[in-house]
Amino acid sequence: MEAYAALYVVATPLGNLGDLTARAADVLRAVPWVAAEDTRHSAPLLRHLGSPAKLLAAHEHNEEAAARQVIEKLAAGEAVALISDAGTPAISDPGARLVARVREAGYKVVPLPGPCAAVAALSASGIAAPHWLFHGFLPAKAKQREETLRELAALPAALVFYEAPHRILETVAALASVLGPGRRLVVARELTKLFETIHACPLGEALAWLEADANRQKGEFVLIVDAPAAAGDDAAETERVLKLLLDDGLPVKQAAKLAHAITGAAKNALYARALALRDGTDA
Ligand code: SAM
Repeated sequence: MEAYAALYVVATPLGNLGDLTARAADVLRAVPWVAAEDTRHSAPLLRHLGSPAKLLAAHEHNEEAAARQVIEKLAAGEAVALISDAGTPAISDPGARLVARVREAGYKVVPLPGPCAAVAALSASGIAAPHWLFHGFLPAKAKQREETLRELAALPAALVFYEAPHRILETVAALASVLGPGRRLVVARELTKLFETIHACPLGEALAWLEADANRQKGEFVLIVDAPAAAGDDAAETERVLKLLLDDGLPVKQAAKLAHAITGAAKNALYARALALRDGTDA
């Protein structure tokens, strides 16, 4: 193929070379320049492909300077590919600022979709929440991490996090303590690699599962926390608890009080609903 003067944003494998798309391979062989997060890391991939492209460094500390270099190449009519160490550039990786500068300069940016750890983990998680929020890495400091999690806790969406092995235990402990032990967690570890593991459990059981085997704490992680129970599910559960208490012979006031303690639903609403249930004025 012939690559025209554009910036090609190319997803590369997370671990399994077979995941490089045919189009990505064609582009990486055709462009004269590849801007890479870590040129030493990416050189073997280009060698493997037999690509004659020259490498430029484009990492988080030189993104503006790298953008100027890339724009010079494009101005000279040369195509440039952008890659990161693994997965899709600009997803918890450098690239977004470089892409913005190239677009501002009026050049075409062409995405080549492919591996992305968050999407791979979601696809195999079995989590059916219609919405999900990609958060990426949580703050390293405990206080900021908890504040961030408190902000995310009530969102009606599954939450997707990236985590490194040295923080996996403290992050999972923080998820359980802030989001609650009942929410479902999917741990997706070493995706596409030899020790790929995908494990689902309630958040309250996740720390024990990780601690039961030191190997489970190794490698790269995507953590997905399922969405909180929907309002409709909460209402059904509250109704179930209230009915159980009334059926057990508890007086209305006490049933409402206990149901409030169990479900957290508003006391007044529970009292009114318990009266209606007792008097048969509602089904
Ligand atoms: N740009 C990448 C992408 O598209 O997924 C993400 C890069 S980010 C710097 C690296 C993080 O992605 C890792 O710490 C881990 O959380 C996640 N990750 C990358 N490869 C992974 C894999 N094979 N299995 C699980 N998580 C992975």
